[in-house]
Amino acid sequence: MIDLRSDTLTRPSPAMRQAMAAAEVGDDVFGEDPTVNRLQDRVADLLGKERALFVASGTMGNQLCIKTHTRAGDEVIAEAGAHVFFYETAGAAFLSSVQIHQVHGTRGVFAADDVRQAIRPDIYYMPRTRLLCLENTHNRAGGAVYPLDAFASIARVAHDAGLRVHLDGARLWNACVASGETPASYCAHVDSVSVCLSKGLGAPVGSVIAGSRDFIEEARHYRKIFGGGMRQAGILAAAGLYALDHNVDRLAEDHAHALAFATVVGGIPGVVIDMATVQSNIVIMDTAGTGIGAGEWAARCAAAGVRVSQASERTLRAVTHLDVSAEDVRTAAQIMVRVFTSGGR
Ligand SMILES: *Cc1c(COP(=O)(O)O)cnc(C)c1O
Repeated sequence: MIDLRSDTLTRPSPAMRQAMAAAEVGDDVFGEDPTVNRLQDRVADLLGKERALFVASGTMGNQLCIKTHTRAGDEVIAEAGAHVFFYETAGAAFLSSVQIHQVHGTRGVFAADDVRQAIRPDIYYMPRTRLLCLENTHNRAGGAVYPLDAFASIARVAHDAGLRVHLDGARLWNACVASGETPASYCAHVDSVSVCLSKGLGAPVGSVIAGSRDFIEEARHYRKIFGGGMRQAGILAAAGLYALDHNVDRLAEDHAHALAFATVVGGIPGVVIDMATVQSNIVIMDTAGTGIGAGEWAARCAAAGVRVSQASERTLRAVTHLDVSAEDVRTAAQIMVRVFTSGGR
């Protein structure tokens, strides 16, 4: 079975497990885990921020940042397909008592005017717009990369209006490998950022948030409230350090695999892929033209040996990652061609 449902499916390699087993550890609630501290310093440095904080998941990272930036009753602007809106179980409402104001982007990228118009005027009966969330790469937009100049100008619109800016950079590493920009060049335009170690980087657990010293101190307080104060977490942080050493540059291979896959599968009659979004490791396939629902296609592909996920009623999603080879991806594409042209029988 070739599994392209998600880049979260990767399993820690023997060498990564060895690094985890050998990690020097301490009690991180006391701030005394040397491996966690090393990871936090390393990521802060990579992102060009004063401080960083190791957290259990990308969702925890985003939600901690929203909590730290906002007060109850505030409004947060996010893209209509943003992870913070779509996949975080209404966490912003549940944990921070804020509402999300959706703005539609193009392939995940905002137009400056749309953001400007979404910022509420300072009138007492309006919600207070406090925060803008950006996502790079954009998951539901098929892994599309935010061009740096567009990113900078949108962040400027928000900052000029007195908003804070948060980057959901779960796949910021992919965005940078695809665009050639550095993580710090994106992060220079935001007040906080969350990055995942457990997606394409292949670590089993963990994300890191980064920002100013004061911001991270406040976020640490909320992390404890949210139940995220972990003890000998260096075992996990060691996997993150290993991933940063070994698994960043190789993301280019995943991107090449996704493009090769999309080129073949996009040629199937009835399957539409917006090739302009295939910039990193995600491929969204619109199967509406086949007259058969995406869920049914996912089941037929799985029966034939390829697992892809259903992104919506009419779309499938395939994600390349370090546990699938060029050969696997070629085979997967061929199986999909066969399934779609024979109807899966
Ligand atoms: C995966 C993901 C997250 C966080 O996910 P967790 O499963 O909570 O680690 C956040 N944002 C985006 C864009 C993601 O793809």
